[in-house]
Amino acid sequence: MGKLNDIFSLDIGMDLGTANTLIHVKGKGIVLSEPSVVAIEKGTKKVIAVGHEAKKMLGKTPGDIITVRPLRDGVIADFDSTGKMIEYFIKKVAPKSFFKIKPRVAVGIPSCITEVEKRAVSDSIERAGAKEIFILEESMAAAIGANIPIFEPAGNMICDIGGGTTESSVISLDGMVITNAIRIGGDELDEAIIKHVKLVHNLIIGESTAETVKIKIGNMDYHQDSKIMEIRGRDAISGLPKVQEITSNEIREALQETINLIIEEIKKTLDQTPPELSADIVERGIVLTGGGAMLMGLSKLIANQTGVPVIIAENPLLCVALGAGKFLEQRNKA
Ligand code: ADP
Ligand code: MG
Repeated sequence: MGKLNDIFSLDIGMDLGTANTLIHVKGKGIVLSEPSVVAIEKGTKKVIAVGHEAKKMLGKTPGDIITVRPLRDGVIADFDSTGKMIEYFIKKVAPKSFFKIKPRVAVGIPSCITEVEKRAVSDSIERAGAKEIFILEESMAAAIGANIPIFEPAGNMICDIGGGTTESSVISLDGMVITNAIRIGGDELDEAIIKHVKLVHNLIIGESTAETVKIKIGNMDYHQDSKIMEIRGRDAISGLPKVQEITSNEIREALQETINLIIEEIKKTLDQTPPELSADIVERGIVLTGGGAMLMGLSKLIANQTGVPVIIAENPLLCVALGAGKFLEQRNKA
């Protein structure tokens, strides 16, 4: 019976992130990981490209094509493009079989999303052909994906740093005890780099250059050697192309203010945690997920500032999708 069920069922775990969308399919693992970006023709509103294809066009499109990141800043800015993106991704992973198998979909979305936006997400998933839909809070999905023992009567703290949001939560007995979410994440770090480079070097750079700088030489640990990188952009005064050397040290300073906001949020969550659960967290540590967890030196800085050990999850970018997939598996057993 179990086997037959497997053949005629399709379980999809989805991470609808502000920067990236990931899909886990039962029995196959992570089958899709693409930027949450849509390119649209202005007049006709026709979708030109989705995912990787659309991201390549970011900041490089001619006047009549616009690129949208529908989930940016945790807000579904544009229901229509969100829906088209979701449908496109689900259809891309669905097997092209003779029998039309209707999938069950569990989707992790940022918790600061409104009810109306949640509704828009589930409508789009339904339109993509799902027979059952489960909307999970991102922190819960991330915790399951990071193999945190959420069913235990003990405090577990998770902090997910994504592109547009940072969510920190305490989970015990399969429930969220505390959740705090702010609309600050990796995007704001990129913006801080853009501002810094303009102010100090009179150089205008784009979002992807700023993101590359952050990933390659960004380091919040001042004990580590400063790296140097050459970046290219446009001189703010002459308007001509220009190359500039930039160091880890100055990038750390540029990021500090935004990082402080993230650490403040983590401290707020710790402060709101009931004492018995705090004791567990001090023992078990805070688990970091999301792409932002990989910023060099960040886990150490958070540990220093909070006095609580910090652990980076094994696959920080995959946790939410893995967790959504595992959620459906656990329901099958129940
Ligand atoms: P979301 O869930 O919002 O889609 P992700 O968890 O996919 O976001 O993380 C995307 C963010 O992580 C981006 O801002 C990206 O720049 C950042 N990121 C990815 N890898 C690294 C890295 N190695 N160092 C620092 N930031 C990173
Ligand atoms: Mg995420």
